[in-house]
Amino acid sequence: MSGKPGNDADVLVVGAGPVGLLLAGELRLGGASVLVVDRLPSPTTESRASTVHARTMELLALRGLSGRFGTPENLPKGHFGGLPLDLGRVRSRYPGQWKIPQAAIERVLAEWATGAGARLWRGHELTGLRDDGDRVEARISGPGGPLRVRAKALVGCDGENGVVGSLAGFEFTGPAAGREIFRADLTGITVPDRRFERHERGLAIASTRDGITRVMVHEYGRKPGGSADPGFPAVAAAWRRVTGEDIGGGEPLWVNAFGDARRQATRYRRGRVLLAGDAAHQQMPVGGQALNLGLQDAMNLGWKLAAWVRGRAPERVLDTYDRERRPVGARTLANIGAQAMLLLGGSEVDPLRAVLAELLELPGTAPLLAGAISGLDVRYPVGDGDHPLLGRPVPVVDAEPIRSGRAVLLSAPGTARADVFRATAASWADRVATAEARVDGVDEAVLIRPDGRVIWADEGPVELEQALSHWFGPAGANHTERNHRGVR
Ligand SMILES: Cc1cc2nc3c(=O)[nH]c(=O)nc-3n(C[C@H](O)[C@H](O)[C@H](O)COP(=O)(O)OP(=O)(O)OC[C@H]3O[C@@H](n4cnc5c(N)ncnc54)[C@H](O)[C@@H]3O)c2cc1C
Repeated sequence: MSGKPGNDADVLVVGAGPVGLLLAGELRLGGASVLVVDRLPSPTTESRASTVHARTMELLALRGLSGRFGTPENLPKGHFGGLPLDLGRVRSRYPGQWKIPQAAIERVLAEWATGAGARLWRGHELTGLRDDGDRVEARISGPGGPLRVRAKALVGCDGENGVVGSLAGFEFTGPAAGREIFRADLTGITVPDRRFERHERGLAIASTRDGITRVMVHEYGRKPGGSADPGFPAVAAAWRRVTGEDIGGGEPLWVNAFGDARRQATRYRRGRVLLAGDAAHQQMPVGGQALNLGLQDAMNLGWKLAAWVRGRAPERVLDTYDRERRPVGARTLANIGAQAMLLLGGSEVDPLRAVLAELLELPGTAPLLAGAISGLDVRYPVGDGDHPLLGRPVPVVDAEPIRSGRAVLLSAPGTARADVFRATAASWADRVATAEARVDGVDEAVLIRPDGRVIWADEGPVELEQALSHWFGPAGANHTERNHRGVR
């Protein structure tokens, strides 16, 4: 087995799905060397997620990537469990849902990450790993035979039921799938569009884009059949039983069954092994939240892990990944679970749907759900202080340091203490940039993490200094953690 040093990396990312690719780019911006392995020899062509929500668009825009998707279709109308929900009025430069095929997201992120220097080995499968406390040693099976790769950290971005979780001994909790939906992408047939149409026997959804019709059908009470590919005849039969229509003459391009499992890792980090995306949380792909949740995991983790493996941030900063993202995952899974009940329940959920439809008319209810689904209402516990922006995402800021993944102190032009704040931040100049910009809701200055989160705003220089050392380690020197011994 080959284990040459050329195979080694600061971070080994397992899985070149959207989450692994975004993470790889973020790690590179943070200065870590990165190797990404994916068992597939080429990117999947399956049509999976296609919805990008407002906060994810903001994150892509922070890195200057949003323009690489052309002019995607924008739909202001979303839904919650099939009940109409306006996503077009959330406060964002990117309100509503953006229709971008997952394959396009993966293509752009792969170009961006490899352009930034990440190595990407397709056709390489992780088969084993060992975390000896000082490093992780991974066994990889590739076209040239088995390989050994050593890294300071390994991140499992290997999707639902990924092997990293089981190999590294992660535990998962939550219900297994109790119901399933069939889905087929078809050509050569005309099916009227329908959004979440509830029939006596089940739920039917159909939409046609670019000549391809996607149908989804659930028969109330139907238990999962145990196969991700039920075959087109089973889908057509279920469609007929629910709608009375015959779609058997259509040409199936892709057939798939998915369940309503809701499983989440009980922690996102064990030693030098971490999980992100679907590898950390499994959920029904309803409302397009799974992809968005995973991309936001990657954005949160990338800069922290890069700083940690490069000895530039204390371990407690890396631990905030779990502290910040696991509760967001749990909340999103609960939201998806509630939607699954509303969507896949039979007549027994009709009263609940009627009550919720009334509640959605109240002024606060729809914005609350839209805030959760768009990802905009997430607030991380980043420290003391009562500024309303603390822990919240900044709106898109066109500042070069943010595009290149640095933390930045932004001071409003012409304010009295701007020089004092800049002088304070100067001691962290290797980790924190300074720039002038006005940010909504900020009077004087704001400190922003590389993932676009506010960690200090409008307080005094003492509090600024505390925030800088808390998040970026001691002033003027690289912070080297004890547990990095022997892995340089
Ligand atoms: C069939 C299917 C249909 C979906 N449909 C929708 C949808 O309609 N709407 C929606 O919002 N979401 C949908 N999703 C969910 C969405 O695609 C995921 O949330 C998203 O892909 C998660 O990204 P990820 O990077 O975490 O994982 P994935 O995209 O699953 O990527 C994981 C990668 O890891 C690789 N890998 C796995 N094991 C190994 C190993 N041992 N060694 C090396 N590489 C490995 C895989 O080849 C894969 O490329 C669907 C998912 C699937 C699987």
